[in-house]
Amino acid sequence: MTSDANFSDASERIDTSDATWQTDVRAGVRHVRDLAFLPLSPGERAAAQAAAANHKVRIPKAYLDLIDWNDPADPIRAQVIPSPDELLEQDGELDDPIADHAFSPAPRLTHRHADRVLLFPTYQCAVYCRFCFRKESLTSIGRGYTREALEPALAYIADHPEIREVILTGGDPLSLPDKALAEIRARIEAIAHVRLLRIHTRVPVALPSRITPGLVAALQGRLMVTVVTHFNHAREITDATEAACRTLRQAGFVLLNQSVLLKGVNDTVEVLEELCRELMYRLGVKPYYLHHGDLARGMAHRRTTIAQGQALAAALRARLSGICNPVYVLDLPEGGGKVPIGPCYIEGRDGESWRLRGLDGEVKGYQEVVGE
Ligand SMILES: *Cc1c(COP(=O)(O)O)cnc(C)c1O
Ligand code: SF4
Repeated sequence: MTSDANFSDASERIDTSDATWQTDVRAGVRHVRDLAFLPLSPGERAAAQAAAANHKVRIPKAYLDLIDWNDPADPIRAQVIPSPDELLEQDGELDDPIADHAFSPAPRLTHRHADRVLLFPTYQCAVYCRFCFRKESLTSIGRGYTREALEPALAYIADHPEIREVILTGGDPLSLPDKALAEIRARIEAIAHVRLLRIHTRVPVALPSRITPGLVAALQGRLMVTVVTHFNHAREITDATEAACRTLRQAGFVLLNQSVLLKGVNDTVEVLEELCRELMYRLGVKPYYLHHGDLARGMAHRRTTIAQGQALAAALRARLSGICNPVYVLDLPEGGGKVPIGPCYIEGRDGESWRLRGLDGEVKGYQEVVGE
């Protein structure tokens, strides 16, 4: 086992009572050399080592088992198996596509919007997604959790009463042991002005057996807890991921999902429609954002155009209920935040007369009537 195959530093040994998920980790791909045992194409095999140098390889068994190896374009495979196309970097692609570093007042902290911060307890993940917009940090920083590493960030949060939401991201916060999570949660909830703890994670998707009663207990306390999952395809919704989401919902956590729009994975109306429906109706997870592909290096082969994304968002708006609809957003490269870039329904305006396109595509008039 390489050191980064551990989820965290040696001082934070994972307790062995939760054996199932550890088996899922151990029996999966933990290192690029484990790819040798998979039926990869000659091109994938040739590129694996070089691609892994830019972004680590890790796939828990539960996620690996979802791949249909007879389909070279399988949408699960496309998300985790290194591709030769990753080596083709384009001008304009960025190491830090959403400017995490430019807005970092303390190590492991990003503060761009007044009321909420990103806190990075670890730069390791349960699964490494090839399209990750933070892959450069995960490779160059790569560190796990230590109590000391978070002290400056926690002091900054305590000093800024405008901060109401702390978003644990990374890396994947749910790749940490229960003990570490309980410790981080306790430190955050001790800061009186913080109201909500948000967790951005792919663990319910890629390593659902990790969602245990112990993990839930570690997160429960004074704070409202929101878990933002990251499902990209309905094929990721299984009995196991359903059970994981049920455990989180029954704990009283609010569940939302963000997806990344990925060419060859989920860039059709049918795939996105099924994903959004099954998220809400089967998992009880509200589709929150559909992200336009970030300018992460070597990912041109997975990016759609914005016009394609807008057409998909318009079709979803017409076909799905409001609660099943995500907002299509672009995270601006220079730190402008996530801006909605979906289709515009306003066709024109003349004073208080508006012309708006209905969901049926027809333009209708609307006359504003307001009191004095
Ligand atoms: C994405 C992000 C957030 C959260 O944004 P929401 O729109 O509230 O989901 C907060 N801070 C930073 C720096 C972010 O990148
Ligand atoms: S789990 Fe999230 S942070 Fe980790 S590799 Fe995937 S997208 Fe990146």
